[in-house]
Amino acid sequence: MQTIFEKDNGASGINLCDEEQNVNFIPEKFKRNLTLGLPNVSELEALRHYKALSDMNFCIEKGFYPLGSCTMKYNPKVNELLASLEGFSCLHPYSNESDSQGTLELMYNLQQALKEITGMDAVSLQPAAGAQGELTGMMVIKKYFEVKGEPRFKVIIPDSAHGTNPASAHLCGFEVVSVKSDDKGQVDLEALKNLVDKNVAAIMMTNPNTLGIFEKNVLEISKIMHENGSLLYYDGANFNAIMGYTNPKLMGFDVVHLNLHKTFATPHGGGGPGAGPIGVVEKLKEFLPAPLIDFDGKKYFKNYNIKHSIGSVKAFWGNFAVLIKAYVYILMMGQNLKEASENAVLNANYLKEKLKGAYSLPYDEPCMHEFVLSGDKQKANGVSTLNIAKSLMDQNIHPPTVYFPQIVHEAIMIEPTESETKEVLDNFVSVMLDIAKKSETNPKEIISAPHSTPVKRIDEVLAARKPDLKFVQQ
Ligand SMILES: *Cc1c(COP(=O)(O)O)cnc(C)c1O
Repeated sequence: MQTIFEKDNGASGINLCDEEQNVNFIPEKFKRNLTLGLPNVSELEALRHYKALSDMNFCIEKGFYPLGSCTMKYNPKVNELLASLEGFSCLHPYSNESDSQGTLELMYNLQQALKEITGMDAVSLQPAAGAQGELTGMMVIKKYFEVKGEPRFKVIIPDSAHGTNPASAHLCGFEVVSVKSDDKGQVDLEALKNLVDKNVAAIMMTNPNTLGIFEKNVLEISKIMHENGSLLYYDGANFNAIMGYTNPKLMGFDVVHLNLHKTFATPHGGGGPGAGPIGVVEKLKEFLPAPLIDFDGKKYFKNYNIKHSIGSVKAFWGNFAVLIKAYVYILMMGQNLKEASENAVLNANYLKEKLKGAYSLPYDEPCMHEFVLSGDKQKANGVSTLNIAKSLMDQNIHPPTVYFPQIVHEAIMIEPTESETKEVLDNFVSVMLDIAKKSETNPKEIISAPHSTPVKRIDEVLAARKPDLKFVQQ
C-alpha cells in the first residue's frame, strides 16, 4: 500500500473514477486471479431481492419520523445530486491544492457560513459526528488550560444531557460532575454555584436542553463560569430550534459543535456518515485541529500553521460529501433557515398541546423543537412506553425516542421537525390518542404490537449484541 500512497502524494488531480489509472496503481500481488463468485441470478431477480430488503426498512421518505433529539427532517434530493458531481466525488484527497481549488473554496465558504450561524470566530469541519465534535471541543478546552499552565480536570454536565456529553468529557480525561435540573427542567443555579471551583474547566450544555426547554438562565450561567475562569461548551446537535434567532456566542459559549446530519439536512440513521464541525471563539482558534481552510485573496489553501493545534482528528477532510450537502442546503435556504426553526418550534408546540391531556407532560412549559411526554398514565394499565412505540410502527410511524432523557419516567421524546404538514401532525395526534384510549379499553392489543412489521418483538439485547441480518421473510 505504501507504494500507492507514495505515488499519490505528489500527483495532481488524480481521478478516483478512472479505472485504468487505478488498476495500474495496484501491485500485481494484490490483484485477484479468481473469478468473482457472484450468484447466478437475473437482473430482475436481483432487483426484486434488493427492493424487498428496502421495503423492510423504515425511512423518512416512507413516513413520519418524530425521533426526538435526532432531527429527522427532509433531506432535499438536490443535495445528493450536487454531492455526486464527478468533480467532487472522483477527486483524490491527495490532489494538489492548485487542482482542488473548487473543493477548498466550498469548505472555506461552509466554514464562513457556520461562523455566521453560530456567531463563532473560527470553525473546523473535520469531526465526523456530533460525538466526535464534542471530543474535539473537549480536547481544545483541555489544551487551552494546559498551555495556560492551569490544568483543570472537572467538567460539569446537567443531568438531562445527551449521553455522549459525559462520554466525551470522560474520554478526554476529565472528571464528570453532574448538576441537577430544577422542577422547570432547567439547570439548578444554586446547585451549579456549589459545584464551581478552580478545578472546573468547563460546563457542557445543550440549549434548548434535551427536554426541549430553553435554559432561561444561560447568561447567568455564562457569567458564573467565566468569572471562575471556566469555559462553556455548547452541544449544538439541536440547532434546528434556534437558527437565525440566537446563537451560542450571544449566549456566552466558547465552543460549539453542530450536527450537519441533523440540522443541515444531510441523511442519517443507520450509523453515518455524518459531520460534526466545531466552532470556537477567537482565543481558542489556535488550538483547533489542523488544517483549517484559508484564503489569501488569490487562492484557497490548507493552513497547518495553527500554533497549539490538537492535531488532526480525521483523515483528510472529514466526511466531505456531507459537507457538500450541508453547504447546498444552507445556500438554498438562505434567510429561510430562520423560518425552518420557526416551523420546527411551532410544530412541536402544536403536538404538545394536542397530546398533553391523554399523556402526562412533566414539564408543562412552552417547548422549542421537541418535547418530552411521560407514559406513566398508560403504564398504570400495564402499557409501557416501549409498547406505545411498537404500536406506532403498525401505523407507519417511526417511534419517538423513548426512555430518554433519563430524568423523565417512561419518557416519550417527540420532535416533528419543520418538514411535516398539518395533516401529518394531525394523523399522528389521532394515532397517539387512539393508543392512549386502547391502553385503557384494550391494553392487550398495544402490548402485543407490532402486528404488521416484517419482524415482530425481538430480544433487544441479543439483537444489539448479535445482529442477525439474514433476509428471512416471516
Ligand atoms: C445526536 C446528538 C448528539 C450526538 O451526535 P452523533 O452525531 O450521533 O454523534 C449529541 N448531543 C445531542 C443533544 C444529540 O441530539
